[in-house]
Amino acid sequence: MAKIGIPRTLAYFNYYPFWKIFFDELGHEVVLSTPTTKGILDDGVKVAVNDACIPIKVYHGHVVELANKVDYLFCPRLVSLRKFGDFGTETFCPKFLGLPEMIRYGIENVPEIIDVRVNLGSAKKQIDKVCYEVGQILGNLPNQILQASKKASVIQKKYEELLHQEFLPEQALDKVFTNKKKAKKIDKKDKFEPELKIAVVGYPYAIYDNYINVGLLNILKNENVKILTQDMVNDSDMNKQIRTLPKSMFWYYSNRVIYGTLHFIHRGDIDGIIHVTAFACGPDSMVDRLLEIEARKRSSIPYMSVMIDEHSAEAGVRTRVEAFLDMIRYRRDKN
Ligand code: SF4
Repeated sequence: MAKIGIPRTLAYFNYYPFWKIFFDELGHEVVLSTPTTKGILDDGVKVAVNDACIPIKVYHGHVVELANKVDYLFCPRLVSLRKFGDFGTETFCPKFLGLPEMIRYGIENVPEIIDVRVNLGSAKKQIDKVCYEVGQILGNLPNQILQASKKASVIQKKYEELLHQEFLPEQALDKVFTNKKKAKKIDKKDKFEPELKIAVVGYPYAIYDNYINVGLLNILKNENVKILTQDMVNDSDMNKQIRTLPKSMFWYYSNRVIYGTLHFIHRGDIDGIIHVTAFACGPDSMVDRLLEIEARKRSSIPYMSVMIDEHSAEAGVRTRVEAFLDMIRYRRDKN
C-alpha cells in the first residue's frame, strides 16, 4: 500500500472524488494536504518562480506540506478533458501543462511524482488508459484498475450531479463521503430564503479556497446571499452559450468561467456577478475584460471583479462586497 499525496487546490475542487475512490479501491492511502493557510502560501511563495500566479504558488505550498508524508505525489499533467470541436483546440493553461516540471525542479525532496498525461480529448476511453498508467506505476493489476476506474466514475458523476443541484463543492464532498445523517443536516442548512442571488465565477481554486479569496463566500453567506458558481451549470446549458460568441478561449477553465457567466446573465434570476480573478494570471487579463463587456452588452446585471494576490486583505474585500450588495439592494428598492 502506498501513500499518495493530493494537494487540496487546483483541480482538487473538480476531480478529487474520482481520484480518491480510484486510489482507495486500489488499496492505497490518499493523503490530502490541509486547507490553505498563511504557512502554506508563504512556503509556496518561497519555492515557486517569482512570476507564477498566486494559485500556482499556493499549489507549491501544498506540495511542500505533503513532501515528507507521502510515497508519491499525484500531479497529473492536465492537457485536455473534452473532445475538440465547439471549444476549438482547448487545453489547460500553460502553467498546468508545466506543473510537474515546476514541482520536480523547484522543490527539494519531493517524492516520486505521478505525472501521467491526461488528454481525454485525443480519443475515446482515454480515461481508462490514464488509470491504467497510474495503476501500473503503483503495481496494481489491470482488472483491479478497470474496476477501480469504473467505481471512481460513478462517484465522480454523483459529485457533479450534486454540484448541478447547486451544492458548493465543500457540501457536495461532505454528501459524497460522509454518512446519510450528516448529509441530511447539510440539506437542512442549505434550505434558506436568500435575499439575493449572486453568481460567483472564476477558477475553482480561486473561488472555493477560503484563504486565498479571504473568505469571500462566507462574507456573502453572512449577507443572506445564495451563491451560484459556474460549476453548478450543467454541460448542456453551458454549451448553449458557445454559439453566442464568435470564438472560444484556448483554455479549459477560462471557457467554463465565460460560458457559465453567460448562462447566468441570461438566466433571469441573478442579482449580480462577482468575478474572482488571480493576480498575474495571463488568461484572466482577457477573461475579465470579456466578461465585463458581455455583462454590460447583454444585461443590466451589476458586475464586479475581485483580484486576489498574496497581499489581499479581508477588510478590503469585505468593504467592496458590502458596497456592491448595498448598491444592488438600493437599485432593487428604487424600482
Ligand atoms: S489560468 Fe491563470 S490562475 Fe489559473 S493557473 Fe493559469 S495563470 Fe494561474
